[in-house]
Amino acid sequence: MFFFSPGYLLFVFLPILVLSLAARGWVQSTYARYSKVPNSTGQTGAQVAQRILTGSGLSHVQINIIDGDLTDNYDPRTKTLNLSRGVATSTSVAAEAVAAHEIGHAQQDAQGYFAMQWRSGLVPVANLGSQAAPLIVVAGLILSWLSGGATFGIAIAELGLALFAMVVLFNLVTTPVELNASHRALGLLAENGAILPEEQAGARQMLRAAAFTYWVALIASILTLLYYASLVFGNRRNN
Ligand SMILES: [Zn+2]
Repeated sequence: MFFFSPGYLLFVFLPILVLSLAARGWVQSTYARYSKVPNSTGQTGAQVAQRILTGSGLSHVQINIIDGDLTDNYDPRTKTLNLSRGVATSTSVAAEAVAAHEIGHAQQDAQGYFAMQWRSGLVPVANLGSQAAPLIVVAGLILSWLSGGATFGIAIAELGLALFAMVVLFNLVTTPVELNASHRALGLLAENGAILPEEQAGARQMLRAAAFTYWVALIASILTLLYYASLVFGNRRNN
């Protein structure tokens, strides 16, 4: 009942849908474009990654090849750089940009970059929040409605709201961590001779498109939080 109100469709659902589609389209089109541009070293994503890891005092990081498209990640628990097969085996500018971004995370980890530690700490509560918080908010509102506006239901809805605020906090911390990893990526590529100045614009484009997806996630979570808050506090005012 709450999710199909015109206000929700107009101010939350539609903006999030449009931004998400735009972000996905941008990432996919820049990736497609720069995966056709060969990098100057002729090395694959995995070779470039090994070169940067060795050159940056991160030799303890192991490279793994994983399945999937753009599933690349750095796992701080196991100190592994997980490169998707496409990135690991491609000799493109796109592949080296993705690999270098993930090494940016490995460097953050090695240097004890505080925002990354915060982010890791927030992962479990943010996962719980994104899955359970909407249900808790709605359950609390239904309970309040069924009981003729009893504060108990509203208290439950507020608990759900607080839990969803953790998702926003997680995205607030994630965005600078990602921007910082991309900033490091360009530096790491240049310092290790893995990129020529004329290739840098392409790598930067790739990383910029990827960063936009994190901004979208942040905006989406803020809009959703505001919407839940308007439901909960609007409901409280009516009673
Ligand atoms: Zn990242």
